[in-house]
Amino acid sequence: MINYDIHIHTHLSSCGARDAFMQDYINAASELSLELMGFADHAWDDSVNGASPWYAPQTYKRLIARKEELKTLDKKGINVLLGAEGEYANELLAIGDSAAEFVDYILVPHSHTHMKGFVLPSGCVGNPEKHASYLVKSFISLCNHEKRNMFFGIVHPMSPCGETEEYTEKIFSFITDEMLKECACAASENKVALEVNLSEFKKIPPDQLHQHCYNRFFDACKRAGCEFFMGSDAHAVKAFVDNHGLKNGIVDALGMDESFFKAAKLRISNG
Ligand SMILES: [Zn+2]
Ligand SMILES: [Zn+2]
Repeated sequence: MINYDIHIHTHLSSCGARDAFMQDYINAASELSLELMGFADHAWDDSVNGASPWYAPQTYKRLIARKEELKTLDKKGINVLLGAEGEYANELLAIGDSAAEFVDYILVPHSHTHMKGFVLPSGCVGNPEKHASYLVKSFISLCNHEKRNMFFGIVHPMSPCGETEEYTEKIFSFITDEMLKECACAASENKVALEVNLSEFKKIPPDQLHQHCYNRFFDACKRAGCEFFMGSDAHAVKAFVDNHGLKNGIVDALGMDESFFKAAKLRISNG
């Protein structure tokens, strides 16, 4: 079984539940027999200009508070890491040189395209073909970024956050297998780990999962030998437990098993 999760939000994320506390997550993780967990609260490095009003107060520095708190908690034998979910907003990577002082690892999204006019350029809004091209371009440029060594992997890769299933299918109808292969190779060559994001997959009816458009992307990534990691993207303890309950079914539907998730786990465990 896949016994880890490195994408969990606490109350320190603006969108996290106010009662999303680390100890409650750790207690739940212990019930779920997880060995490794990582808190990845949203963060924008204040040394990088251009934060949106939503990101501006969510600095890397503020996350240092978790370090002190963790010392006082009962970790129940679980390896607990303190990470961040950064941002790649229209080709602007919001990680400064000192970000690594405050966190153990950084995950980066390229597809917060619900942040229209900030992540997704205004000209792509309402146009699935341009949205598709944005997703492909931003994915590849992130994998090849000059600061590639500052982050571990990409969260909810190629998943246009906030869009309906119908619109997502429309976007994917403009993404060819050749483009997906190019994305997969960029991730594999640059050792960028890719997330299986339980929050995104749980929106898809289980009987449609195996034929969902994301599967074309994950198939390409499997063929390219990419590393995968597990993330619940939970914003509350209940969602964390629920998402892990769906984990095996989702991994099965993707034609994957535990072996696909081992390399990333080992790499992040070793720092
Ligand atoms: Zn995200
Ligand atoms: Zn997240």
